Amino acid sequence: MPVRILADSDVLSRRLLVLHETVTSPARQVTRSARIVVVGSSNTDMVVRVSTLPRPGETVIGGDFFTARGGKGANQAVAAARAGGSVALIACLGTDAIGDETLAALAAEGIAVDAVRRMAGTRSGVALIVVDERGENSIAVAPGANALLAPEQVVSCAELLSPRDVLLTQLETPLESVLAAARAANGATARVILNPAPARDLPDELLSLVSVLTPNEAEAARIAGVPVDDHHGLEDAANALLRRGVGAVVITLGAAGAYVATTEHRETIPGYRVEARDTTGAGDVFSGALAVALADRVPLGEAVRFANAAAAISVTRDGAQPAAPRRAEILQLIGS
Ligand code: ADP
Repeated sequence: MPVRILADSDVLSRRLLVLHETVTSPARQVTRSARIVVVGSSNTDMVVRVSTLPRPGETVIGGDFFTARGGKGANQAVAAARAGGSVALIACLGTDAIGDETLAALAAEGIAVDAVRRMAGTRSGVALIVVDERGENSIAVAPGANALLAPEQVVSCAELLSPRDVLLTQLETPLESVLAAARAANGATARVILNPAPARDLPDELLSLVSVLTPNEAEAARIAGVPVDDHHGLEDAANALLRRGVGAVVITLGAAGAYVATTEHRETIPGYRVEARDTTGAGDVFSGALAVALADRVPLGEAVRFANAAAAISVTRDGAQPAAPRRAEILQLIGS
């Protein structure tokens, strides 16, 4: 279902500010009920900073240890909730203490967690991360309960979705569940945003069910099978993805913003200039915020500006979930 781009996209700041100001009016509450259903992963990152990464068989005594909640599904759900969305998460956690903590934290963000299943006898997903002084890292992931997200569980999202709603999903959970979610959303005529990360080959059927695809450049190149080294590469990748049935392609370009392509329109929407500190999770914040703006029926070009602003704020802060900005901060950056 292609999303129309408004030619005059300069009205973004005004329009979003109006949405913000009227959010408490009764009329606005009625029209603001569109929901974002996120189908995806939840992980806990366990991180140790070291001077050099350990080689096989080597022990390196490191600095501090810290944990951070991650997983693309949970990251995007938190980003969308903070950006002002009404968010429900469909995911799997283990029956361990990590699962208890994660569930409580997600609920505290205002995310509806009724559809998060606790899988008996299974551990929650974890990523063991070692980071050296130069920021190089070595990561081992145990997907745990994430690998058990089944199509039957996901199909319950059909009951959660109305035609005004948005399904937001990624590729850290089994592909058949992503496909089941996209089919269910299509059946409910809800829009589907797929953040195709980590990149992998995708069936045409899935791409044909996607309203908006949000790869970064490397992911776009991998999925389209086209090198993306310059603007021509961007156009070629977008054309290939549009030919395979995607409604709109939004390729994120780091500090440069995002390239938006539909069959009728092409536009590079510049990013916001900020002092970047940690770009972890920028793509997740981008997709979460984009889903909020599209659920609010903001046209695609304006929605991408909103997502650029949210992601720009996030790169000025450490981490993924903690860095996701609140709606008022995003509107402030857009208005400034
Ligand atoms: P990913 O994190 O998935 O690799 P990108 O690096 O393309 O994706 O970043 C996603 C979005 O985050 C960009 O489209 C942009 O809006 C924002 N962003 C990333 N890096 C910066 C930066 N240095 N300055 C401003 N915005 C940034």
